Amino acid sequence: MATKPERRAAELLREHGITAPAVDAGALAEALGISVQYERLADDMSGVLLVEGGTAKVAINDSHHRNRQRFTLAHEIGHVLLHAGEDGLFVDRRFFRNEWSSKGELREEIEANAFAASLLMPRRFVAQCIEPGAGITDLDVFRLATRFEVSEQAMTLRLVKLGFIEPD
Ligand SMILES: [Zn+2]
Repeated sequence: MATKPERRAAELLREHGITAPAVDAGALAEALGISVQYERLADDMSGVLLVEGGTAKVAINDSHHRNRQRFTLAHEIGHVLLHAGEDGLFVDRRFFRNEWSSKGELREEIEANAFAASLLMPRRFVAQCIEPGAGITDLDVFRLATRFEVSEQAMTLRLVKLGFIEPD
């Protein structure tokens, strides 16, 4: 069974008629009425999301690699669709650090990351790019990452998650 973040990401792609990589996270944010700015943020900050009076504003760290900026934006879209029912501030630092103050916040971060991975690397799109039965080499991962405009690390994690490669 697909998880809620995975389903919500698939719905969003369907609603906007997106059928192939690379998924344009910026265009989706715009379509959702989320204002996005690229600016200088502290080095360990990926992005900030502010939801106020039903309006969402995102700031992305413009000094990070473009692929990381895309992932951060997809992560913030996840917060908007999954968590920002009411006003709130989400400050995203380097992923997977144990610095969130409560279990609830950690769960939201994990969900936003799952949403981002599902949005940028949907199972169906990845499956279409992989030859069934053939092993996946490092070069394949590089090619997939290039095609999906994500980091090789993000693509590797996704391929493991989807069961296309064995975890180390
Ligand atoms: Zn977050």
